Amino acid sequence: MARRKRRRQKKITFRITLSQAIVFGVVVFCLLSGIHLGFQGELGDSPTWDDWYAALGLSSTPASTNTVSEETQAVHFIDVGQADATLLQSGDEYCLVDAGEADSETDLLRYLDQQGITKLKLLVMSHPHADHIGSMKAVLEHVTVEQVLLPDFDKAPYPTTRTFERVMDTIEAQQIPTITAQTGQSFTIGEATLTVVADGVETENYNNLSQVLFYDAPGLTVLLSGDGEKEVEQAALEQGNVPKADVFKAAHHGSNTSNTRAFLQAISPRYVVVSCGKDNSYGHPHKEPMQRYQDIGAEVLRTDQDGSVVITATEAGLQYYTANAQSAAA
Ligand SMILES: [Zn+2]
Repeated sequence: MARRKRRRQKKITFRITLSQAIVFGVVVFCLLSGIHLGFQGELGDSPTWDDWYAALGLSSTPASTNTVSEETQAVHFIDVGQADATLLQSGDEYCLVDAGEADSETDLLRYLDQQGITKLKLLVMSHPHADHIGSMKAVLEHVTVEQVLLPDFDKAPYPTTRTFERVMDTIEAQQIPTITAQTGQSFTIGEATLTVVADGVETENYNNLSQVLFYDAPGLTVLLSGDGEKEVEQAALEQGNVPKADVFKAAHHGSNTSNTRAFLQAISPRYVVVSCGKDNSYGHPHKEPMQRYQDIGAEVLRTDQDGSVVITATEAGLQYYTANAQSAAA
């Protein structure tokens, strides 16, 4: 009798130990996989649950209520392969600059959904190439867009591609106000200001219609120049309109047609983010601009290796998150 009782006790003890071990194992696995795959902050402090969500490209409140902090000042370089889609955020107001290729439509819309975005204060078309406007029609149909900033089409032959026409038809059908980029214009996004510091040059090459945009948010400044090539960079420099910025989106996916030394020196960014596709056929980013980013002391992040990159202002300075921290550490 006593023997049987002891045996039963033993069995119960073992069961508790096994379930405890399983729980412990799961917790350790989650933490380790989170550390290695989901998060890399620049600062040494331990990530909060919001950080984990942000690192995975998720809203901290995946349910219905959007509780984005009014203080959040961020730039999101969304991974859309060999293309561009840059999201500027100030509190709960957003501006999207370019909208990737058509084949990244699902990824782009999912990213906007995960951030809880239903409205864009401003949608910017840097220039009418497919890797910048491919999913723009889908974005216009998916969220409310208050206004659209277009490049100055008087500076080039008017685009005639079907992709471009579909975007323009959708803007017209939805009666969204459009504005043609002009140097000196500015737009308010939450607590931030987006200024057109240069508006492209007369050209046969659509890349050179790209505006140079300066985003000035509390604790965070960003410079974007689309696929603007050296002519755009030179014109902006000659006009004396290139401000210093914390973050620079590598011009033209890190191509050697752009990213001139003088332009980079004027911006002197702390971070350069290259938006490009893995093993892309253009060889972007080219080695010469990569060397120049290094020469000016900037840290380079790349969507082909790091996945989507988010840089935010914090009280302790800038902090960045990448969707794939393993590569970012390499
Ligand atoms: Zn491009």
